[in-house]
Amino acid sequence: MAYDFDLYVIGAGSGGVRAARFAAGFGAKVAVAESRYLGGTCVNVGCVPKKLLVYGAHFAEDFEQSRGFGWSLDEADFDWATLIANKDHEINRLNGIYRNLLVNSGVTLHEGHAKLLDPHTVEVNGQRFTAKTILVATGGWPQIPEIPGREHAISSNEAFFLKALPKRVLVVGGGYIAVEFAGIFHGLGAETTLLYRGELFLRGFDGSVRKHLQEELTRRGMDLQFNADIERIDKQADGSLNVTLKDGRQLQADCVFYATGRRPMLDNLGLENTRVTFDNKGFVEVDELYQTAEPSILAIGDVIGRVQLTPVALAEGMAVARRLFKPEQYRPVDYNLIPTAVFSLPNIGTVGLTEEQAREAGHEVQLFESRFRPMKLTLTECQERTLMKLVVDARTDKVLGCHMVGPEAGEIVQGLAIALKAGATKRDFDETVGVHPTAAEEFVTMRTPVAG
Ligand code: FAD
Ligand code: NDP
Repeated sequence: MAYDFDLYVIGAGSGGVRAARFAAGFGAKVAVAESRYLGGTCVNVGCVPKKLLVYGAHFAEDFEQSRGFGWSLDEADFDWATLIANKDHEINRLNGIYRNLLVNSGVTLHEGHAKLLDPHTVEVNGQRFTAKTILVATGGWPQIPEIPGREHAISSNEAFFLKALPKRVLVVGGGYIAVEFAGIFHGLGAETTLLYRGELFLRGFDGSVRKHLQEELTRRGMDLQFNADIERIDKQADGSLNVTLKDGRQLQADCVFYATGRRPMLDNLGLENTRVTFDNKGFVEVDELYQTAEPSILAIGDVIGRVQLTPVALAEGMAVARRLFKPEQYRPVDYNLIPTAVFSLPNIGTVGLTEEQAREAGHEVQLFESRFRPMKLTLTECQERTLMKLVVDARTDKVLGCHMVGPEAGEIVQGLAIALKAGATKRDFDETVGVHPTAAEEFVTMRTPVAG
Protein backbone atom coordinates (compact mmCIF):
# COMPACT_ATOMS: atom_id res chain seq x y z
CA MET A 1 0.00 0.00 0.00
CA ALA A 2 1.22 3.53 -0.76
CA TYR A 3 1.31 5.80 2.26
CA ASP A 4 1.37 9.61 2.35
CA PHE A 5 4.52 9.51 4.50
CA ASP A 6 7.25 7.04 5.43
CA LEU A 7 7.25 8.42 8.97
CA TYR A 8 4.64 10.47 10.81
CA VAL A 9 5.91 11.93 14.09
CA ILE A 10 3.42 13.10 16.70
CA GLY A 11 5.02 15.78 18.85
CA ALA A 12 7.69 18.32 17.88
CA GLY A 13 9.58 18.14 21.18
CA SER A 14 13.13 17.05 21.85
CA GLY A 15 12.70 13.46 20.64
CA GLY A 16 10.22 14.09 17.82
CA VAL A 17 12.16 16.89 16.16
CA ARG A 18 15.40 14.90 16.32
CA ALA A 19 13.79 11.80 14.78
CA ALA A 20 11.94 13.80 12.09
CA ARG A 21 14.93 15.89 11.01
CA PHE A 22 17.33 13.00 10.78
CA ALA A 23 14.81 10.69 9.08
CA ALA A 24 14.19 13.38 6.45
CA GLY A 25 17.94 13.87 6.12
CA PHE A 26 18.28 10.15 5.40
CA GLY A 27 15.83 10.57 2.52
CA ALA A 28 12.53 9.58 4.14
CA LYS A 29 9.25 11.41 3.51
CA VAL A 30 8.42 12.75 6.97
CA ALA A 31 5.68 14.79 8.63
CA VAL A 32 5.47 16.02 12.19
CA ALA A 33 2.37 17.23 14.05
CA GLU A 34 2.62 19.69 16.93
CA SER A 35 -0.37 20.87 18.89
CA ARG A 36 1.17 23.37 21.26
CA TYR A 37 4.69 24.68 20.83
CA LEU A 38 7.67 23.86 18.63
CA GLY A 39 10.57 22.45 20.61
CA GLY A 40 8.26 20.81 23.14
CA THR A 41 8.61 20.87 26.91
CA CYS A 42 12.35 21.48 27.07
CA VAL A 43 12.28 24.64 24.98
CA ASN A 44 8.98 26.09 26.17
CA VAL A 45 8.28 25.02 29.75
CA GLY A 46 11.31 22.98 30.74
CA CYS A 47 15.10 22.99 30.60
CA VAL A 48 15.61 26.27 28.74
CA PRO A 49 13.28 28.74 30.52
CA LYS A 50 14.09 26.98 33.82
CA LYS A 51 17.81 27.55 33.34
CA LEU A 52 17.19 31.20 32.43
CA LEU A 53 15.25 31.66 35.67
CA VAL A 54 18.04 29.89 37.61
CA TYR A 55 20.54 32.34 36.13
CA GLY A 56 18.22 35.15 37.19
CA ALA A 57 18.01 33.83 40.74
CA HIS A 58 21.79 33.39 40.94
CA PHE A 59 22.39 37.14 40.68
CA ALA A 60 21.17 37.60 44.26
CA GLU A 61 24.22 35.81 45.63
CA ASP A 62 26.54 37.40 43.07
CA PHE A 63 25.49 40.86 44.25
CA GLU A 64 25.93 39.84 47.86
CA GLN A 65 29.36 38.29 47.31
CA SER A 66 30.64 41.15 45.16
CA ARG A 67 30.97 43.28 48.31
CA GLY A 68 33.90 41.14 49.46
CA PHE A 69 35.67 42.11 46.24
CA GLY A 70 35.22 45.80 46.84
CA TRP A 71 32.03 46.44 44.95
CA SER A 72 29.25 48.38 46.59
CA LEU A 73 25.80 48.38 45.10
CA ASP A 74 22.71 50.21 46.09
CA GLU A 75 19.85 48.01 47.22
CA ALA A 76 19.35 45.54 44.34
CA ASP A 77 15.91 45.70 42.80
CA PHE A 78 14.41 42.78 40.92
CA ASP A 79 11.61 43.00 38.36
CA TRP A 80 9.89 39.67 37.61
CA ALA A 81 7.98 41.08 34.62
CA THR A 82 11.24 42.00 32.86
CA LEU A 83 12.72 38.55 33.42
CA ILE A 84 9.60 36.81 32.12
CA ALA A 85 9.28 39.12 29.10
CA ASN A 86 12.93 38.60 28.15
CA LYS A 87 12.57 34.86 28.67
CA ASP A 88 9.46 34.81 26.43
CA HIS A 89 11.34 36.74 23.75
CA GLU A 90 14.15 34.20 23.79
CA ILE A 91 11.73 31.25 23.66
CA ASN A 92 9.98 32.84 20.65
CA ARG A 93 13.35 33.05 18.95
CA LEU A 94 14.00 29.37 19.67
CA ASN A 95 10.52 28.40 18.37
CA GLY A 96 11.50 30.06 15.08
CA ILE A 97 14.77 28.16 14.98
CA TYR A 98 12.91 24.88 15.49
CA ARG A 99 10.51 25.75 12.68
CA ASN A 100 13.43 26.44 10.34
CA LEU A 101 15.24 23.27 11.40
CA LEU A 102 12.21 21.20 10.45
CA VAL A 103 11.28 23.00 7.26
CA ASN A 104 14.88 23.21 6.03
CA SER A 105 15.31 19.49 6.50
CA GLY A 106 12.29 18.85 4.31
CA VAL A 107 9.89 17.80 7.06
CA THR A 108 6.19 18.65 6.52
CA LEU A 109 4.89 20.45 9.60
CA HIS A 110 1.24 20.10 10.63
CA GLU A 111 0.32 22.51 13.40
CA GLY A 112 -2.56 20.93 15.27
CA HIS A 113 -3.57 18.09 17.52
CA ALA A 114 -2.92 14.64 16.05
CA LYS A 115 -5.17 11.69 16.72
CA LEU A 116 -4.60 8.12 15.62
CA LEU A 117 -7.59 6.67 13.79
CA ASP A 118 -5.93 3.32 13.11
CA PRO A 119 -2.36 1.94 13.15
CA HIS A 120 -1.44 3.83 9.97
CA THR A 121 -3.76 6.86 9.93
CA VAL A 122 -3.47 10.18 11.75
CA GLU A 123 -6.06 12.96 11.78
CA VAL A 124 -4.93 16.58 12.21
CA ASN A 125 -7.17 19.63 11.79
CA GLY A 126 -9.81 17.43 10.12
CA GLN A 127 -7.37 16.08 7.53
CA ARG A 128 -6.25 12.46 7.37
CA PHE A 129 -2.73 11.28 6.62
CA THR A 130 -1.37 7.79 6.33
CA ALA A 131 2.13 6.66 7.18
CA LYS A 132 4.08 3.43 7.10
CA THR A 133 5.43 4.15 10.58
CA ILE A 134 4.03 6.45 13.24
CA LEU A 135 6.26 7.72 16.03
CA VAL A 136 4.57 8.81 19.26
CA ALA A 137 6.76 11.46 20.90
CA THR A 138 4.08 13.33 22.83
CA GLY A 139 6.05 13.83 26.05
CA GLY A 140 4.61 14.30 29.52
CA TRP A 141 2.46 16.57 31.62
CA PRO A 142 2.61 17.64 35.29
CA GLN A 143 0.71 15.45 37.67
CA ILE A 144 -0.93 17.00 40.73
CA PRO A 145 -2.56 14.68 43.30
CA GLU A 146 -6.34 14.87 43.71
CA ILE A 147 -6.64 16.84 46.95
CA PRO A 148 -9.37 19.29 47.93
CA GLY A 149 -8.34 22.71 46.62
CA ARG A 150 -6.08 21.26 43.91
CA GLU A 151 -7.42 23.92 41.53
CA HIS A 152 -5.62 26.59 43.58
CA ALA A 153 -2.22 24.96 42.98
CA ILE A 154 0.03 25.55 39.98
CA SER A 155 2.59 23.36 38.22
CA SER A 156 5.78 24.24 36.35
CA ASN A 157 3.64 24.93 33.25
CA GLU A 158 2.05 27.96 34.93
CA ALA A 159 5.07 29.04 36.97
CA PHE A 160 6.84 30.24 33.82
CA PHE A 161 4.01 32.70 33.12
CA LEU A 162 3.11 34.08 36.55
CA LYS A 163 2.22 37.74 36.36
CA ALA A 164 4.13 38.56 39.54
CA LEU A 165 6.62 36.89 41.83
CA PRO A 166 4.57 35.49 44.73
CA LYS A 167 5.59 36.71 48.17
CA ARG A 168 5.24 33.32 49.89
CA VAL A 169 5.64 30.10 47.90
CA LEU A 170 5.05 26.56 49.04
CA VAL A 171 6.79 24.07 46.76
CA VAL A 172 5.52 20.49 47.02
CA GLY A 173 7.71 17.55 45.97
CA GLY A 174 11.27 16.43 46.40
CA GLY A 175 12.46 15.75 42.85
CA TYR A 176 14.29 17.77 40.22
CA ILE A 177 11.58 20.33 39.55
CA ALA A 178 10.71 20.98 43.19
CA VAL A 179 14.32 21.56 44.18
CA GLU A 180 15.10 23.69 41.15
CA PHE A 181 12.03 25.92 41.47
CA ALA A 182 12.44 26.28 45.23
CA GLY A 183 15.90 27.67 44.40
CA ILE A 184 14.48 30.01 41.77
CA PHE A 185 11.75 31.43 44.02
CA HIS A 186 14.06 31.68 47.02
CA GLY A 187 16.85 33.30 45.01
CA LEU A 188 14.49 35.87 43.53
CA GLY A 189 13.32 36.87 46.98
CA ALA A 190 10.14 34.90 47.73
CA GLU A 191 9.72 33.36 51.17
CA THR A 192 10.04 29.74 50.11
CA THR A 193 9.07 26.52 51.84
CA LEU A 194 9.81 23.15 50.28
CA LEU A 195 7.48 20.42 51.47
CA TYR A 196 8.43 16.80 50.87
CA ARG A 197 6.50 13.72 51.96
CA GLY A 198 9.57 11.56 52.75
CA GLU A 199 12.54 11.70 55.16
CA LEU A 200 14.89 13.49 52.77
CA PHE A 201 14.39 14.86 49.27
CA LEU A 202 16.00 13.73 45.96
CA ARG A 203 15.37 10.03 46.42
CA GLY A 204 17.73 8.04 44.21
CA PHE A 205 20.60 10.55 44.45
CA ASP A 206 23.69 9.76 46.53
CA GLY A 207 23.04 10.06 50.27
CA SER A 208 25.92 12.52 50.82
CA VAL A 209 24.59 14.73 48.02
CA ARG A 210 21.07 14.79 49.46
CA LYS A 211 22.33 15.62 52.96
CA HIS A 212 24.76 18.25 51.70
CA LEU A 213 22.09 20.04 49.67
CA GLN A 214 19.75 19.94 52.64
CA GLU A 215 22.43 21.67 54.76
CA GLU A 216 23.22 24.25 52.09
CA LEU A 217 19.59 25.17 51.43
CA THR A 218 18.95 25.46 55.17
CA ARG A 219 22.03 27.68 55.51
CA ARG A 220 20.58 29.91 52.80
CA GLY A 221 17.39 30.31 54.76
CA MET A 222 15.06 28.09 52.78
CA ASP A 223 12.41 26.45 54.92
CA LEU A 224 12.67 22.69 54.32
CA GLN A 225 9.85 20.61 55.72
CA PHE A 226 10.24 16.85 55.31
CA ASN A 227 7.75 14.15 56.31
CA ALA A 228 5.09 16.69 55.40
CA ASP A 229 2.21 16.46 52.96
CA ILE A 230 -0.81 18.59 52.09
CA GLU A 231 -4.32 17.56 53.08
CA ARG A 232 -6.21 20.48 51.52
CA ILE A 233 -5.82 24.00 50.15
CA ASP A 234 -8.38 26.71 50.86
CA LYS A 235 -8.50 30.10 49.19
CA GLN A 236 -8.97 32.99 51.61
CA ALA A 237 -11.02 36.12 51.00
CA ASP A 238 -7.82 38.13 50.41
CA GLY A 239 -6.71 35.69 47.69
CA SER A 240 -4.03 34.03 49.82
CA LEU A 241 -4.00 30.26 50.36
CA ASN A 242 -4.48 28.43 53.63
CA VAL A 243 -2.78 25.06 53.45
CA THR A 244 -3.69 22.29 55.88
CA LEU A 245 -1.09 19.56 56.27
CA LYS A 246 -1.90 15.92 57.02
CA ASP A 247 -0.46 16.36 60.51
CA GLY A 248 -2.97 19.16 61.12
CA ARG A 249 -0.58 22.09 60.84
CA GLN A 250 -1.68 25.12 58.81
CA LEU A 251 0.58 27.14 56.52
CA GLN A 252 -0.16 30.36 54.65
CA ALA A 253 1.06 30.97 51.11
CA ASP A 254 0.38 33.08 48.04
CA CYS A 255 1.31 30.29 45.67
CA VAL A 256 1.32 26.51 46.04
CA PHE A 257 3.53 24.95 43.40
CA TYR A 258 3.27 21.20 42.84
CA ALA A 259 6.18 19.27 41.32
CA THR A 260 5.09 15.73 42.03
CA GLY A 261 6.10 13.99 38.84
CA ARG A 262 4.83 13.86 35.28
CA ARG A 263 2.38 11.57 33.52
CA PRO A 264 2.57 10.57 29.86
CA MET A 265 0.71 12.95 27.52
CA LEU A 266 -1.82 10.67 25.81
CA ASP A 267 -4.90 12.94 25.89
CA ASN A 268 -7.20 12.29 22.93
CA LEU A 269 -4.34 10.62 21.08
CA GLY A 270 -6.50 7.75 19.88
CA LEU A 271 -4.20 4.96 21.05
CA GLU A 272 -7.34 2.99 21.89
CA ASN A 273 -7.70 2.58 18.11
CA THR A 274 -4.47 0.58 18.09
CA ARG A 275 -2.97 -2.37 19.98
CA VAL A 276 -0.48 -0.17 21.89
CA THR A 277 -0.12 -1.26 25.53
CA PHE A 278 0.83 0.63 28.70
CA ASP A 279 2.90 -0.12 31.79
CA ASN A 280 1.48 0.05 35.32
CA LYS A 281 2.15 3.81 35.48
CA GLY A 282 0.40 4.43 32.17
CA PHE A 283 3.51 4.99 30.06
CA VAL A 284 3.60 3.52 26.55
CA GLU A 285 5.25 0.10 26.53
CA VAL A 286 8.05 -0.41 24.01
CA ASP A 287 10.78 -2.98 23.39
CA GLU A 288 14.47 -2.19 22.98
CA LEU A 289 13.79 -0.86 19.47
CA TYR A 290 11.03 1.53 20.73
CA GLN A 291 8.48 -0.73 19.07
CA THR A 292 5.05 -0.78 20.74
CA ALA A 293 2.72 -3.77 20.67
CA GLU A 294 1.34 -2.30 17.42
CA PRO A 295 3.96 -3.09 14.73
CA SER A 296 3.60 0.23 12.83
CA ILE A 297 3.81 2.41 15.95
CA LEU A 298 6.98 3.40 17.79
CA ALA A 299 7.34 5.61 20.86
CA ILE A 300 10.23 7.55 22.42
CA GLY A 301 10.97 10.17 25.06
CA ASP A 302 8.99 11.04 28.18
CA VAL A 303 5.91 9.19 26.94
CA ILE A 304 7.73 5.88 27.48
CA GLY A 305 8.80 7.01 30.96
CA ARG A 306 12.29 5.52 30.94
CA VAL A 307 14.60 8.44 31.63
CA GLN A 308 12.86 11.78 31.39
CA LEU A 309 15.76 13.90 30.15
CA THR A 310 16.17 15.83 26.91
CA PRO A 311 19.48 14.26 25.85
CA VAL A 312 17.90 10.83 26.30
CA ALA A 313 14.88 11.76 24.13
CA LEU A 314 17.33 13.10 21.53
CA ALA A 315 19.34 9.87 21.57
CA GLU A 316 16.18 7.80 21.24
CA GLY A 317 14.98 9.95 18.33
CA MET A 318 18.32 9.50 16.62
CA ALA A 319 18.26 5.74 17.18
CA VAL A 320 14.79 5.45 15.62
CA ALA A 321 15.72 7.56 12.57
CA ARG A 322 18.86 5.52 11.99
CA ARG A 323 17.24 2.14 12.51
CA LEU A 324 14.43 2.91 10.08
CA PHE A 325 16.28 4.81 7.40
CA LYS A 326 20.05 4.35 7.85
CA PRO A 327 20.36 0.93 9.49
CA GLU A 328 24.08 0.67 8.80
CA GLN A 329 24.59 3.57 11.23
CA TYR A 330 22.24 2.23 13.92
CA ARG A 331 23.57 2.07 17.46
CA PRO A 332 21.33 1.34 20.45
CA VAL A 333 21.03 3.99 23.14
CA ASP A 334 23.28 3.22 26.10
CA TYR A 335 21.31 3.93 29.27
CA ASN A 336 24.36 3.38 31.49
CA LEU A 337 26.26 6.31 32.91
CA ILE A 338 23.80 9.04 31.93
CA PRO A 339 25.15 12.20 33.55
CA THR A 340 22.63 14.61 35.00
CA ALA A 341 22.45 17.91 36.83
CA VAL A 342 19.92 19.40 39.17
CA PHE A 343 20.04 23.17 38.72
CA SER A 344 19.36 23.87 42.34
CA LEU A 345 21.35 26.65 43.97
CA PRO A 346 23.98 25.25 44.51
CA ASN A 347 23.90 22.81 41.56
CA ILE A 348 24.15 19.05 41.76
CA GLY A 349 26.08 17.15 39.11
CA THR A 350 26.19 13.39 39.06
CA VAL A 351 27.19 10.46 36.88
CA GLY A 352 27.32 6.75 37.58
CA LEU A 353 26.46 4.79 40.69
CA THR A 354 25.62 6.31 44.02
CA GLU A 355 27.32 4.82 47.08
CA GLU A 356 24.06 3.07 47.92
CA GLN A 357 23.64 1.61 44.42
CA ALA A 358 27.26 0.45 44.33
CA ARG A 359 26.88 -1.40 47.62
CA GLU A 360 23.60 -2.91 46.52
CA ALA A 361 25.21 -4.13 43.30
CA GLY A 362 27.78 -6.01 45.42
CA HIS A 363 30.83 -3.80 44.80
CA GLU A 364 33.49 -3.56 47.45
CA VAL A 365 33.21 0.19 47.73
CA GLN A 366 35.98 2.71 48.32
CA LEU A 367 34.87 6.30 48.85
CA PHE A 368 36.69 9.57 48.34
CA GLU A 369 35.05 12.72 49.59
CA SER A 370 36.07 16.32 49.76
CA ARG A 371 34.21 19.25 51.27
CA PHE A 372 35.69 22.70 50.93
CA ARG A 373 34.87 26.37 50.76
CA PRO A 374 35.27 27.45 47.12
CA MET A 375 38.09 29.95 46.56
CA LYS A 376 35.67 32.54 45.20
CA LEU A 377 33.96 32.69 48.59
CA THR A 378 37.10 33.23 50.66
CA LEU A 379 36.76 37.01 50.37
CA THR A 380 33.07 36.90 51.22
CA GLU A 381 30.95 36.19 54.24
CA CYS A 382 29.36 33.22 52.48
CA GLN A 383 30.05 29.95 54.27
CA GLU A 384 28.78 27.69 51.47
CA ARG A 385 30.74 24.47 51.00
CA THR A 386 31.22 22.34 47.93
CA LEU A 387 30.97 18.54 48.06
CA MET A 388 32.80 16.18 45.73
CA LYS A 389 32.58 12.44 46.00
CA LEU A 390 34.00 9.51 44.09
CA VAL A 391 32.64 5.99 44.40
CA VAL A 392 35.31 3.46 43.43
CA ASP A 393 35.33 -0.32 43.11
CA ALA A 394 38.15 -1.37 45.47
CA ARG A 395 38.81 -4.61 43.56
CA THR A 396 39.10 -3.22 40.02
CA ASP A 397 39.95 0.42 40.91
CA LYS A 398 37.24 1.49 38.44
CA VAL A 399 35.47 4.76 39.23
CA LEU A 400 31.80 3.85 39.49
CA GLY A 401 30.32 7.26 40.25
CA CYS A 402 31.16 10.96 40.56
CA HIS A 403 28.94 13.30 42.55
CA MET A 404 29.17 16.99 43.24
CA VAL A 405 27.21 19.74 44.93
CA GLY A 406 28.57 23.17 44.18
CA PRO A 407 28.89 25.90 41.56
CA GLU A 408 28.91 24.63 37.97
CA ALA A 409 28.55 20.99 39.06
CA GLY A 410 26.72 20.18 35.83
CA GLU A 411 29.50 21.67 33.71
CA ILE A 412 32.16 19.72 35.61
CA VAL A 413 30.37 16.37 35.58
CA GLN A 414 29.94 16.37 31.79
CA GLY A 415 33.70 15.84 31.31
CA LEU A 416 33.87 13.25 34.07
CA ALA A 417 31.10 11.31 32.32
CA ILE A 418 33.41 10.79 29.34
CA ALA A 419 36.11 9.43 31.65
CA LEU A 420 33.66 7.00 33.27
CA LYS A 421 32.31 5.96 29.89
CA ALA A 422 35.88 5.20 28.84
CA GLY A 423 36.24 2.99 31.94
CA ALA A 424 38.58 5.27 33.93
CA THR A 425 40.14 3.91 37.11
CA LYS A 426 40.93 5.89 40.24
CA ARG A 427 44.57 5.63 39.18
CA ASP A 428 43.68 7.38 35.88
CA PHE A 429 42.07 10.15 37.91
CA ASP A 430 45.18 10.36 40.15
CA GLU A 431 47.51 10.52 37.16
CA THR A 432 45.53 13.32 35.53
CA VAL A 433 47.08 16.72 36.09
CA GLY A 434 44.73 19.23 37.68
CA VAL A 435 43.74 22.61 36.28
CA HIS A 436 44.79 25.10 38.94
CA PRO A 437 43.17 26.91 40.65
CA THR A 438 39.76 25.40 40.02
CA ALA A 439 37.24 23.49 42.07
CA ALA A 440 37.23 20.74 39.45
CA GLU A 441 40.87 19.81 40.18
CA GLU A 442 39.69 18.40 43.49
CA PHE A 443 38.34 15.43 41.53
CA VAL A 444 41.92 14.43 40.60
CA THR A 445 43.55 15.19 43.96
CA MET A 446 41.48 13.14 46.41
CA ARG A 447 44.05 10.62 47.69
CA THR A 448 42.80 9.16 50.95
CA PRO A 449 39.65 7.08 51.08
CA VAL A 450 37.14 8.00 53.73
CA ALA A 451 35.79 5.34 56.06
CA GLY A 452 32.77 3.90 54.26
P1 FAD B 1 8.31 16.89 24.82
O1 FAD B 1 9.50 17.74 24.75
O2 FAD B 1 7.38 17.08 25.95
O3 FAD B 1 7.53 17.06 23.45
C1 FAD B 1 6.28 16.51 23.22
C2 FAD B 1 5.53 17.40 22.25
O4 FAD B 1 4.39 16.69 21.78
C3 FAD B 1 4.99 18.68 22.90
O5 FAD B 1 5.43 19.80 22.16
C4 FAD B 1 3.47 18.52 22.84
O6 FAD B 1 2.80 19.74 22.66
C5 FAD B 1 3.31 17.61 21.63
N1 FAD B 1 2.07 16.83 21.63
C6 FAD B 1 1.55 16.10 22.65
N2 FAD B 1 0.43 15.48 22.23
C7 FAD B 1 0.24 15.83 20.93
C8 FAD B 1 -0.74 15.49 19.96
N3 FAD B 1 -1.73 14.63 20.23
N4 FAD B 1 -0.63 16.05 18.73
C9 FAD B 1 0.37 16.89 18.42
N5 FAD B 1 1.34 17.23 19.30
C10 FAD B 1 1.28 16.70 20.54
N6 FAD B 1 15.59 17.66 30.96
C11 FAD B 1 16.94 17.84 30.93
O7 FAD B 1 17.65 17.04 30.33
N7 FAD B 1 17.51 18.92 31.56
C12 FAD B 1 16.78 19.84 32.22
O8 FAD B 1 17.33 20.81 32.77
C13 FAD B 1 15.37 19.67 32.26
N8 FAD B 1 14.60 20.58 32.91
C14 FAD B 1 13.25 20.39 32.92
C15 FAD B 1 12.48 21.33 33.60
C16 FAD B 1 11.11 21.19 33.65
C17 FAD B 1 10.28 22.21 34.39
C18 FAD B 1 10.49 20.09 32.98
C19 FAD B 1 9.00 19.94 33.00
C20 FAD B 1 11.25 19.15 32.31
C21 FAD B 1 12.63 19.29 32.28
N9 FAD B 1 13.45 18.37 31.63
C22 FAD B 1 14.81 18.54 31.61
C23 FAD B 1 12.87 17.19 30.96
C24 FAD B 1 12.76 17.40 29.45
O9 FAD B 1 12.07 18.61 29.19
C25 FAD B 1 12.01 16.23 28.82
O10 FAD B 1 12.65 15.03 29.18
C26 FAD B 1 11.98 16.34 27.30
O11 FAD B 1 11.38 17.53 26.86
C27 FAD B 1 11.23 15.14 26.71
O12 FAD B 1 11.14 15.25 25.31
P2 FAD B 1 9.99 14.54 24.50
O13 FAD B 1 10.34 14.71 23.06
O14 FAD B 1 9.77 13.18 25.00
O15 FAD B 1 8.66 15.34 24.85
P1 NDP C 1 10.38 13.58 39.98
O1 NDP C 1 9.88 12.23 39.65
O2 NDP C 1 11.82 13.89 39.83
O3 NDP C 1 9.98 13.92 41.48
C1 NDP C 1 8.66 13.84 41.93
C2 NDP C 1 8.65 14.17 43.40
O4 NDP C 1 7.31 14.30 43.84
C3 NDP C 1 9.30 13.09 44.26
O5 NDP C 1 9.99 13.71 45.31
C4 NDP C 1 8.10 12.30 44.78
O6 NDP C 1 8.32 11.74 46.04
C5 NDP C 1 7.07 13.41 44.92
N1 NDP C 1 5.69 12.93 44.79
C6 NDP C 1 5.19 12.11 43.84
N2 NDP C 1 3.87 11.93 44.03
C7 NDP C 1 3.53 12.64 45.13
C8 NDP C 1 2.32 12.84 45.83
N3 NDP C 1 1.19 12.26 45.42
N4 NDP C 1 2.33 13.62 46.91
C9 NDP C 1 3.48 14.21 47.34
N5 NDP C 1 4.65 14.05 46.72
C10 NDP C 1 4.69 13.28 45.62
O7 NDP C 1 9.46 14.54 39.13
P2 NDP C 1 9.55 16.09 38.76
O8 NDP C 1 8.15 16.51 38.61
O9 NDP C 1 10.44 16.82 39.70
O10 NDP C 1 10.27 16.06 37.34
C11 NDP C 1 9.89 15.15 36.32
C12 NDP C 1 11.09 14.67 35.56
O11 NDP C 1 11.55 15.70 34.68
C13 NDP C 1 12.32 14.37 36.42
O12 NDP C 1 12.28 13.09 36.99
C14 NDP C 1 13.44 14.51 35.44
O13 NDP C 1 13.62 13.31 34.74
C15 NDP C 1 12.96 15.60 34.52
N6 NDP C 1 13.60 16.86 34.88
C16 NDP C 1 14.95 16.99 34.71
C17 NDP C 1 15.60 18.12 35.11
C18 NDP C 1 17.07 18.23 34.93
O14 NDP C 1 17.64 17.45 34.19
N7 NDP C 1 17.74 19.18 35.58
C19 NDP C 1 14.89 19.25 35.67
C20 NDP C 1 13.47 19.02 35.80
C21 NDP C 1 12.86 17.88 35.41
P3 NDP C 1 9.01 10.31 46.26
O15 NDP C 1 10.46 10.48 45.99
O16 NDP C 1 8.71 10.03 47.67
O17 NDP C 1 8.33 9.37 45.31
